Amino acid sequence: MVPAFNEEGNIAPLHARLDSVLRACADDHEIIFVDDGSTDGTLDAIRALARRDPRVKFLAFSRNFGHEMASTAGLDRAEGDAVVLIDADLQDPPEVIRRLVDAWRDGADVAYAQRRRRPGEPVLKRLTAWLFYRLLARLTEVPIPRDTGDFRLMDRRVVLALRRCRENPRFVRGLVAWVGFKQQAVLYDRDERHAGETKYGFRKLLKLSLEALSAFSLAPLRLTVWLGGAAVALSVLITLAVVFERVFLGPAQRGYALLACGIFFMGGVQLVILGIIAHYLGQVFTHGQARPLYLVAEQSGWSETHGREPLPGDGRAREPLLVVRRQEADPPHAHSTLS
Ligand code: UDP
Ligand code: MG
Repeated sequence: MVPAFNEEGNIAPLHARLDSVLRACADDHEIIFVDDGSTDGTLDAIRALARRDPRVKFLAFSRNFGHEMASTAGLDRAEGDAVVLIDADLQDPPEVIRRLVDAWRDGADVAYAQRRRRPGEPVLKRLTAWLFYRLLARLTEVPIPRDTGDFRLMDRRVVLALRRCRENPRFVRGLVAWVGFKQQAVLYDRDERHAGETKYGFRKLLKLSLEALSAFSLAPLRLTVWLGGAAVALSVLITLAVVFERVFLGPAQRGYALLACGIFFMGGVQLVILGIIAHYLGQVFTHGQARPLYLVAEQSGWSETHGREPLPGDGRAREPLLVVRRQEADPPHAHSTLS
């Protein structure tokens, strides 16, 4: 499945490469595009493909809901024995899918493509991404793989587990790690974007990182206790110093400076703590509103009554993004729960 937002120049080349790879490694497949409210010719390009190629299905959102929701919509409709999530910009080379499928046939439930190299991306982005993955690994209890984007193959049972997670805001990579099962890395070199520009500027990345951190870790909340404790310890030290000075050195000749610093310091600590709490509260609020995760304005490849977005927790969703069927002759790999 391919989430796409303003990727008109990438749709046709991506489809061509996907098509040849998928013909080579799967008996039966579908390619699902999710148009995330694009304002350029992306949807037209997808519609044209769907007219030509019966294996292409698509959904178009009523507006831009974001990459995570586009991925979610594709996973909600995926029907294959395995589903591959891939970016539309050709940064994830479709040829790597063969190796993901091999890993799956060898028994992995999740084969995630881990980047060895990411050329053409600014140093600042690489540095912040590096930092983010290390911080995430330290703070969260689920082992979210480092240097790994959304490019991955998931077995059907992982997809079914993901459909039961209806949290909003959502961080799909984190959820995939959270569901567990057998996860395996496949190393690859990331290419440069084929056409267009990245949709993730610094602000959007920061927002995603903060949401990801708070969705998978309570460490920032615990940090508030330490911050408060440190402020108390500091104030005790200052008090002791003042008493010592008063008793042994006589009346101090201090002005307002110390007092002013203390007030600003405490005000700052309290605001930081409030900010952390407000961030979690915001996530709870968004989730509590229980709005649909996305709205579909147009779809092709499914009947009208088929493939409506599922209600929270009802697990009704169908159909794939990009679907690969497991071959009959494959070694069994404990998938008895699957049809
Ligand atoms: N994308 C999306 N909705 C958005 C932003 C991005 O569906 O609001 C898609 C985009 O079309 C691409 C993928 O998500 O297929 C990754 O986006 P991008 O390449 O801009 O991110 P980067 O690779 O620079 O982190
Ligand atoms: Mg990209």
